[in-house]
Amino acid sequence: MRHLPIIVAATATATAFVPAAATAQDTPTTPAGKEALTLLTKGIAFQTVAGRGQVPAYSAYLKQQLVAAGFAEADVTFVPIGETGYLTARYPGRDRKAKPTVVLAHMDVVEADPKDWTRDPFTPVVENGYVYGRGSLDNKAGLSLAVATLMKLKRERWVPQRDLVLVLTGDEETSMKTTQAAAEAFKGAGLVLNADAGGGALGDDGKPIAYGLQAAEKVYGDWHLTITDPGGHSSRPGPTNAIVSLAAAVGRIAAYRFPPQQNEITRASLAGTAAGTPGPLGAAMKAFAANPRDQAAADTISADPRYIGQVRTTCVTTMFNGGHAPNALPQRAMANVNCRIFPGTPRAEIEKKLTALVADPKIKVSFADNGTIEAGASPLDPKVLAAVKAAAAKRSPGLQVLPQQEAGATDSMHFRAHGIPSFGVGPVFMKPGEIFAHGLNERVPVATIDPGVVWWEDLLRSLG
Ligand SMILES: [Zn+2]
Repeated sequence: MRHLPIIVAATATATAFVPAAATAQDTPTTPAGKEALTLLTKGIAFQTVAGRGQVPAYSAYLKQQLVAAGFAEADVTFVPIGETGYLTARYPGRDRKAKPTVVLAHMDVVEADPKDWTRDPFTPVVENGYVYGRGSLDNKAGLSLAVATLMKLKRERWVPQRDLVLVLTGDEETSMKTTQAAAEAFKGAGLVLNADAGGGALGDDGKPIAYGLQAAEKVYGDWHLTITDPGGHSSRPGPTNAIVSLAAAVGRIAAYRFPPQQNEITRASLAGTAAGTPGPLGAAMKAFAANPRDQAAADTISADPRYIGQVRTTCVTTMFNGGHAPNALPQRAMANVNCRIFPGTPRAEIEKKLTALVADPKIKVSFADNGTIEAGASPLDPKVLAAVKAAAAKRSPGLQVLPQQEAGATDSMHFRAHGIPSFGVGPVFMKPGEIFAHGLNERVPVATIDPGVVWWEDLLRSLG
């Protein structure tokens, strides 16, 4: 979904796109890095946008690569679901009875309109030290690095302690039906390592400044607010007006602030970010991390849209429409209220609060189900934290690892809902200002590929 920690993003400034010198490195140096680059460029050419039916072909290509590297044909399975599906590859470990570790990534990508792009989004281009194309970052870089690492380990005949299962989903960006099915199929897993979240941030000088380990996500929820009215001729307005009533209700929601909350993940990330954040904002982060009852500190943090999601549930009106003619009283008005709920707070509680804020029996408040589910935070597993810290230290001695609670949702949600600890441990390091995931001219630095293989290898060797 998103790849660099929001907390860390504040410490590096956004940079405009300036092509690097022609001498920039466009090729990884290690065999596994070269293989990862091939997997990535070939992967971009599969237009795995929802509705185009390209996920099975991409899966077939990946299966062929995995089998060629030594995976048993029977251990690599594609499960079709509608026009998409999910691919799994089992890497047998020494203890076949131990709970397997899932390595998770997604094959689908967000739509891209070639008209808007400088280069064709589905023609991979390696230039000036970057790989360009839709999915180059989200999530085909993380996917290709994981696959290349597993292939390398398989060829070296390394055997993990427990089974590793590579799970590649096919509709993370849309309905997550494949994720739901895969999570159900592997609900006995002991751990999920997700390539689609977490990541390292580089400073303006290109040196790593921190790594974000994703351990929680806000819970997504939309509510529809609807009101109907008999309407009538606009020359004869009466006491009721659907638009005016609904506007007043969304105004009350906008004026409300959900109470501040924290968990061990946000506490750690705020405390860790405070040190590098100057002024009242940094002081507020430090104060709130130390005292969850510090309302004033929570309000200071909430004033910054980058951080409000870290300290409370947010609900905001995102759509509003009503009326049917310029000269008629409205018969109907509707609004969509989008909430990002602090993990652990039931959606029912949020609905109760919204209904109370609406405070108008004529307005119907209904939950708009889009398939997202409620999932709590993953408790910070010391083994995972130690493994990520060791990998980060190898990448750059003393590199800070910050636990992250992400505002968006990833495949991890469906695994967390089964109670499986899930961590975003993406291998990509880049400058926050260069992240165009979901946007135009998406790209990933070639320089992150070789260390990305080392990253996965370190994690799999210590957690596999
Ligand atoms: Zn993604």
